[in-house]
Amino acid sequence: MHESQLARKLVATLEAAVKEQGASRIKSVKVRLGGVHWVDSEAFRELFILFSQGTASEGTELIIEEAPPRAKCSQCGSTFTPYDHDPVCPQCGSREIELVAEPDLQVLEISLLMPTLH
Ligand SMILES: [Zn+2]
Repeated sequence: MHESQLARKLVATLEAAVKEQGASRIKSVKVRLGGVHWVDSEAFRELFILFSQGTASEGTELIIEEAPPRAKCSQCGSTFTPYDHDPVCPQCGSREIELVAEPDLQVLEISLLMPTLH
């Protein structure tokens, strides 16, 4: 249910941005999604659409930049992108792998729609 937490967090972040800037709603948002938790970006998108209903983010264009998780070999120190849950170092074949923590969700860009002034 990690995607669900991230989607809620994004909706909350956008709500705060709307309030802070006095905007009427969110036009688009670009996020970087990824890291150690193997986030499913399609599940994340669907949950975001669900949670944003009735908020200023409803109908927002969501642009997702996927960041692959990074792993570091404890034996030889090389870093690489692990493609499965039991990664093997491509350099030395070691299974002593550490996942390098990255934030799962980074908001890169928020495009706000400002209220029309009459
Ligand atoms: Zn290695």
